[in-house]
Amino acid sequence: STPGGPKPREEKIVVTVRLRPLNKREQLAKDQVAWDCVDDHTIVYKPQPHERVSQPSSFSFDKVFGPSCLTETVYEEGVKNVALSALMGINATIFAYGQTSSGKTYTMRGITEKAVVDIYNHIMNTPERDFTIKISGLEIYNENVRDLLNSESGRNLKLLDDPEKGTVVEKLVEETANNDQHLRHLISICEAQRQVGETALNDTSSRSHQIIRLSIQSTLRENSDCVRSFVASLNFVDLAGSERASQTHADGARLREGCHINLSLMTLTTVIRKLSVGKRSGHIPYRDSKLTRILQHSLGGNARTAIICTLSPALSHFEQSRNTLFFATRAK
Ligand code: ADP
Ligand code: MG
Repeated sequence: STPGGPKPREEKIVVTVRLRPLNKREQLAKDQVAWDCVDDHTIVYKPQPHERVSQPSSFSFDKVFGPSCLTETVYEEGVKNVALSALMGINATIFAYGQTSSGKTYTMRGITEKAVVDIYNHIMNTPERDFTIKISGLEIYNENVRDLLNSESGRNLKLLDDPEKGTVVEKLVEETANNDQHLRHLISICEAQRQVGETALNDTSSRSHQIIRLSIQSTLRENSDCVRSFVASLNFVDLAGSERASQTHADGARLREGCHINLSLMTLTTVIRKLSVGKRSGHIPYRDSKLTRILQHSLGGNARTAIICTLSPALSHFEQSRNTLFFATRAK
């Protein structure tokens, strides 16, 4: 990094919660809303009619977004500062964490779109610098890495340790975006490719992690001094359903469905908990899973992180929503 340029992260991980509206199916089933966003920072459990003892449940975060909040607001207030730090040379990662159907993909797609607009606005407003934006996309399913920009042969990719770059994914395709339209097109290829896997393998999205990684390279124009250049990663991570990390639900019925604990998700929760504790946390087990190995340099050190925890409001999902809020609390 440059003198007077980006400094190592000192603040905590930005943790926000987004509560989606009840969906059609939940409405038809007369499911109840179990959670209430009482202010910008606090979400509480709503005791149900006839419930004598209210659960002790109030949770506070950097921001809480209620069911009527637009993704634009989630982006502006919960993500933007972290995302744009990649334009200053600081690695940034945005996660969506939550149970299946809580709104991770919905939120992450919208946020990626908003970030693309901001990135190209910044490029336009910064004529003194040259920027190159590259993109790669991958999916981790069952600890196998698949290239979302190379459907032909991009399967079971190996991770290699590069002395300079750290962990790299062997043979992962990286495309250079010519402009914002082209970048959107490449992102849509990654998203479509993930859906192809979904149909073939019966909803892999609940079990797989998707990473869209933008590599942002910037150089000061009138001065070719390479100290004035930087490369930073901006990662958009749509995680596997958080029910895959929860042992409380690994009962007989779920096990018969083939639901086993997701190694990458479990390791990520440990890594994030240790990072949030800070310097005293000791050994951080990045190397225990593919996801954390790939993201290591975007999580520790010169890096910023935002986690959006998505929640279903439905009473029938109460346990999972509470687990998500416990995770979010530990990540703060
Ligand atoms: P996940 O990726 O966590 O499994 P999805 O993003 O696919 O969940 O969302 C499940 C469904 O709920 C989708 O039909 C999506 O369009 C809808 N949805 C999610 N979040 C919202 C929201 N904030 N507002 C309106 N609809 C939403
Ligand atoms: Mg999804």
